[in-house]
Amino acid sequence: MTFDIEEWYLEKMFLGNHPEKYGQFDQYLEQILDTLDERRFKATFFCVGGMATEFPEVVRKIERRGHEIGCHSFQHTWLNKLSREEATADTHKAVDALEQCIGKKVKSYRAPAFSIGESNKWAFEVLAECGIERDSSVFPAVRDFGGFAKFGHKTPTVVHYNDISIKEFPISTTRILGQEVAYSGGGYFRFFPLGFVKKEMKKADYTMTYFHIADLIPESDGMMSKEDFESYFKIPGTLKNRYIRHIKSNLGKKGAFDKLLKLIETEFFVNLEQADSIINWDQQPTVKL
Ligand SMILES: [Zn+2]
Repeated sequence: MTFDIEEWYLEKMFLGNHPEKYGQFDQYLEQILDTLDERRFKATFFCVGGMATEFPEVVRKIERRGHEIGCHSFQHTWLNKLSREEATADTHKAVDALEQCIGKKVKSYRAPAFSIGESNKWAFEVLAECGIERDSSVFPAVRDFGGFAKFGHKTPTVVHYNDISIKEFPISTTRILGQEVAYSGGGYFRFFPLGFVKKEMKKADYTMTYFHIADLIPESDGMMSKEDFESYFKIPGTLKNRYIRHIKSNLGKKGAFDKLLKLIETEFFVNLEQADSIINWDQQPTVKL
């Protein structure tokens, strides 16, 4: 089970900085942490580096509750929008900030919006240079922003690229009407009934979940301003682009948070660190990129 933690920082830097929202994010996080405690299992929380510098208490609180802190870039810029040099600088900065914040090594990584694909597979080498051993950035299907359909594996896989190797934990997909579709996180989790998600999880040997707090809270945000949209997404902030984004990120939010709590209450999960230690890697596929 994994969460991506960025809301406080994005609100402060890109979404108009409404401090009253921080308290709301705190509350949702607290409920997630309490429910995980009741169930006595641990998750991985991929945090942006900016959370460590601007909201260190949030990162420390998650760590103190016994969960793994992973890295989710510094400020949530998609890796496929950065040059190799920029991606290296961003990852170093993020890992350093998180490690200083919690006083522990950070070994797991997830790229914002799963932005590692065929065109920037050098990113694996960048991650290894920054001390990352486990990655969960591969979305092994077609996606509106990238995805890595050619990756070819849906279970934990050892990735070899030049001289490095990294353990990859891909996002889970299932086949619906001939298409590979995700079901265990983000908008997909909001869209599918919980019964369907659980049935898919039971069928599979391996499931990777991914949740953002902002994906799950019912309050609909206003549309982003042109300026904020362009500074964040780095594409033209036309009314159409902003509207599509707005609809996509607000669809099915009502009830989504309760659905997550129900999932935690009824299923058992582990975090990446634990999964890494229980997987027999000799039996897992390897891929040379
Ligand atoms: Zn994210």
